[in-house]
Amino acid sequence: MNEARRGFKPLDAAAWATLLWGMLEETIVECPYCGEPAALDVDTSVAEQSYYEDCPVCCKPMEVFVRSRPGEILSISVSAD
Ligand SMILES: [Zn+2]
Repeated sequence: MNEARRGFKPLDAAAWATLLWGMLEETIVECPYCGEPAALDVDTSVAEQSYYEDCPVCCKPMEVFVRSRPGEILSISVSAD
C-alpha cells in the first residue's frame, strides 16, 4: 500500500504557511556592491530575520535584514558583507 508515497518529502510548517496564506512578498532592493536592483522574495511569516542572498547581477553575497509582519514587509535593508 501507498508505494507511491515512498520518498515523498512533506513540506515543513513554514512552507505550508507560505502556501496557505501567501506570506511571500516580493520586494526590490539595491545591491550594495553594484547598485543594481535585485528582486527578493521575503517570507513575512518571520518577524525578524537576516540572511545572505547572492546578487543576481554581480553574484556577491549581500546581507539582508528584514522586519515584517504576516503579509507585509515593515523594513528591509541590505549591506555588504
Ligand atoms: Zn550586485
